[in-house]
Amino acid sequence: MENNATNKTESAAPGEFKSAVDGKCPRCRTGNMFEGPLLSFKSKKMYTHCPHCGLKFEKEPGYFYVAMYVSYVFVVAELVTACVATYILTRNMESPWLYLTVAITAAVVMAPFNYRYSRVVLMYWLTPQFRYRPDLYGKPKK
Ligand SMILES: [Zn+2]
Repeated sequence: MENNATNKTESAAPGEFKSAVDGKCPRCRTGNMFEGPLLSFKSKKMYTHCPHCGLKFEKEPGYFYVAMYVSYVFVVAELVTACVATYILTRNMESPWLYLTVAITAAVVMAPFNYRYSRVVLMYWLTPQFRYRPDLYGKPKK
């Protein structure tokens, strides 16, 4: 059996996509980015620094404004999906109110998801500085 610490650590770390879904820190994939799970009242509370590796999540002032653009893409995709699904289910071509209601409901229901995952996508895939560092995974804080 090989006793290489680096290989062992790397194989133990979850994949990039799973870490992103779980809202883990993009650098160490160990610390949580948010204080609570997605479906909780604390789900909007975000740590300023990774509780595990100390990475500062808001790397510069206004950094998270960029997440609004990601969120916008999410909302458009969700509204289109919701309205197409409504059309397929009801075949309604007359009532704009039906589609308006569906669109607003979808936007409100998906808001916590959009808020959280727009930031996750921004940090994981749109910020090259936040590279995963396998040496930080799972190790205790200094
Ligand atoms: Zn971290």
